[in-house]
Amino acid sequence: MNRIGDALHAHCSALFPICRSITGEGLRRTLRYVAERIPLQLREVPTGTRVLDWEIPREWNPRAAWIRTLSGETVVDFAQHNLHLVQYSHAVPERTVPMGELRQHLHSLPERPHLIPYRTAYYADSWGFCLPHRVLEGMADPAYRVFIDAELGPGALTYGECLLPGREEGEVLVSAHACHPSLANDNLSGLACALELARWLAGRPRRFTWRFLFAPGTIGALAWLAANRDGAARRVRHGMVLSNLGDGAPLTWKRSRREDAPIDRMVAHVLRHEAPDNRLLPFSPYGYDERQYCSPGFDLPVGCLQRSVHGTFPEYHTSADDLAFVRPEHLARSFAALCTIAEVVERDETLASTCPLGEPQLGRRGLYAAIGGIGPGGSARGFGQMTLLWVLNLADGRHTLLDMAERAGQPFAAVRAAADAAMAVGLLVPAAAPDHLETNRSAIDTLG
Ligand code: ZN
Repeated sequence: MNRIGDALHAHCSALFPICRSITGEGLRRTLRYVAERIPLQLREVPTGTRVLDWEIPREWNPRAAWIRTLSGETVVDFAQHNLHLVQYSHAVPERTVPMGELRQHLHSLPERPHLIPYRTAYYADSWGFCLPHRVLEGMADPAYRVFIDAELGPGALTYGECLLPGREEGEVLVSAHACHPSLANDNLSGLACALELARWLAGRPRRFTWRFLFAPGTIGALAWLAANRDGAARRVRHGMVLSNLGDGAPLTWKRSRREDAPIDRMVAHVLRHEAPDNRLLPFSPYGYDERQYCSPGFDLPVGCLQRSVHGTFPEYHTSADDLAFVRPEHLARSFAALCTIAEVVERDETLASTCPLGEPQLGRRGLYAAIGGIGPGGSARGFGQMTLLWVLNLADGRHTLLDMAERAGQPFAAVRAAADAAMAVGLLVPAAAPDHLETNRSAIDTLG
């Protein structure tokens, strides 16, 4: 149907079969796929490295895992679906396990008997399988053969960073987790949107430096924060965590811990004009990696853009979060909203009128002719007469274009177009913008 929607869905399809985790070859393969499309630096953090209050775990590389009947019939096979193996399961040499013992290692969803759940055991020394409850109910034999071939040992955690330099000091952080195996909405939709947003921004002149982070959830964000606490973290002006962008729910912005950071206002504005049912949620210390970016010692202006909310949809963390659940049209709508947000981030500014004493005479400057006869709401160049009048009235060096858009009840793009037209005839000039960087600096310094 639409090109960007299909491209986003194609990324999800290409990456879906890979067994990702918080470390290992599946994660590296995923990052290499991204690196083939945008300039991505891969970073390796060795096992045992202290990252803030945490430690980089051992690297996990699963190869094969199955449960068979004693006569050799397959009951569960990791080769058929990578959700079948509990993440970070250690190796189990082929052996017969009595059903009573095996039962302790099996995970299912009795209330949704056809789905395979997603389970992890990153920091437990254990093993296990996930399977549809109806399969578990059919396991009537007294014992089964079990085999897990997986390497769990010293290695590294991998994350990828794409840096697109801008003209001004200050960075925009876009973060997507990349550690979930075959789950499409929770993981791949955010990753695909981040990849295409980076591509879109790479082809445009940029005011800010945009930093895209593709990292395993929690531990990857912690590793990045530990490495950048005195550098890039201090330069973050605006930030977004991207996740669950491919389902049919309305767009949802979970506010940053600050609740009223510029990015919170920008996204709220874009979502309000995008659709009436889009939602704004307050910050909470749960969810995705905004938890880390918004920990008190960093308190970065980072919120989370999603459609369905973390943990609240029936497909969440099950085999139903698949390639049919994420749809090209929803991905395309999410991506369009992201581009609009990026436009606001890049092009919001504070302007001052060069002619504030009385209304400027528009006809003489060709601005009245441009809109004459169209009426207050009409639009000749992407904005109406009322929008232009609002912009000229509020251009006192104190209101940003976003303030004006909110006050005028107009989308940012219309206000920006009106401001561009007024700037082109010398009626508006840039005023000094406030510096949001100081806030990050003081929050980080306080914790020492
Ligand atoms: Zn998840």
